[in-house]
Amino acid sequence: MPSTDKCLYWLGNNAPEAAMFEQVIRVTTVDDLPDIWGGILCLSLDDPQEQNTMLATMFSHPKFWSWSTYVVQNNPYCECLTDGIFNEKVAFEHGKNTKIKLSKLPDIEKIEPFVGWLGINRQRRIRPVKQLNSLTIYRYPIIEALYPELYSSYRFIVTETKREMLEAERLVDRIRVCKQCNGGHLNYVEVCPNCKSIDIDVQTSLHCFTCGHVGDQQSFLRKGKLECPKCITQLRHIGVDYDRPLETHICHKCSHLFVEADTISHCLNCDTQTDIAELIVQKIHQLKLGQLGEYVYQHGKILQAPELSIKGKVDAGYFENILLWVNKVALRHDEEHLLLSMHLPRLEEYSNLYGDSKLFALLDQITHRLNGLFRDTDICCQYKQDVLLVLMPKTKISTMPVLQNKIEQLTQLIEDELFTLHVSAFKIPDPRINDGVKIWLAETVGNIYAAR
Ligand SMILES: [Zn+2]
Ligand SMILES: [Zn+2]
Ligand SMILES: [Zn+2]
Repeated sequence: MPSTDKCLYWLGNNAPEAAMFEQVIRVTTVDDLPDIWGGILCLSLDDPQEQNTMLATMFSHPKFWSWSTYVVQNNPYCECLTDGIFNEKVAFEHGKNTKIKLSKLPDIEKIEPFVGWLGINRQRRIRPVKQLNSLTIYRYPIIEALYPELYSSYRFIVTETKREMLEAERLVDRIRVCKQCNGGHLNYVEVCPNCKSIDIDVQTSLHCFTCGHVGDQQSFLRKGKLECPKCITQLRHIGVDYDRPLETHICHKCSHLFVEADTISHCLNCDTQTDIAELIVQKIHQLKLGQLGEYVYQHGKILQAPELSIKGKVDAGYFENILLWVNKVALRHDEEHLLLSMHLPRLEEYSNLYGDSKLFALLDQITHRLNGLFRDTDICCQYKQDVLLVLMPKTKISTMPVLQNKIEQLTQLIEDELFTLHVSAFKIPDPRINDGVKIWLAETVGNIYAAR
């Protein structure tokens, strides 16, 4: 049996004879590949779609970020995942170098797949691909392949760039997406500025000075002459008998005449109509390993507290001040608010088990779900790494069962059995808050921890 690291694995047709490699091993599916670090694979499938699917499946297995992967036929999707067109000499040399690099990694089992993938081969970049059949139009195939459970590869990229695991290298495109569904398939359509109907037309109108009638130029034509259809005055001289109004558009719904139409965007996916200015602008970059990513690659894992990006999120000090103020107002005016605490007790365990990026993917899911639950007026604060506080103004504690129910439904939607969320609720006002908001919060959070 040849040693697996001197073999070339060949998936598909027309496998070559081994020249530099000890052996060329033909396989028919990704599942036939051995569970080793740093293997070398070439795919040669006639159907590009099948080849793409095979590649994506391959990268979802834990060790395959370390493999050198080539193809015989390239396509735009493949280019984002592989090391290019197969050439035996290049593949052989590259495989040898990769082996050396992998042996120097401090803790290969624990390295984040995308950091490892970028780190062992400095030619590699995280590239977006444009796919018109995808809701978001641009996708990051390597991220989707390495983290198939991710809700949005774009959000992953943004988060990892923010914490400098990745660095934007080249701006590929800038697109606008729907604020409701993040879809990129938008139709820009001119509408009536009065009633927003799309049923508008360009119309050349005339304005009769005698009676003031304004109407379609066509309706003024009579026996080859211009005559006002209302007062039957003959119109001879523009500027004297009549003129052309500035309003060159007409709405067939409300008959409004106007100079310039409004433009709105209509989402072809979820039908949401949005003012152009309210669309979300996404920058699509090609990316490389960032400063922190470089450090993590060289030195192994570092622990970093991940943050939830909930809308209306404020920092701890600000939250304390608001709580104190709201509490005082509530005492004076006899109002009732709700303070909700959410404890995610297994985050650290989760991170240790699956690594930071999986944790980020989980937090990404939680964020997405929670953002759908809260109102714009709710104030959120990630008070501790694993404790989220939400101040819900004018919400009575008696509504708690409804809310609890919603949160339970939400946690069921998050696809992970290790994920648990403990929710507690506190009625505001509480006179003790006035004595010291920090102490009150410390006690409250202490009780949350004790209750698990
Ligand atoms: Zn109208
Ligand atoms: Zn007239
Ligand atoms: Zn939409």
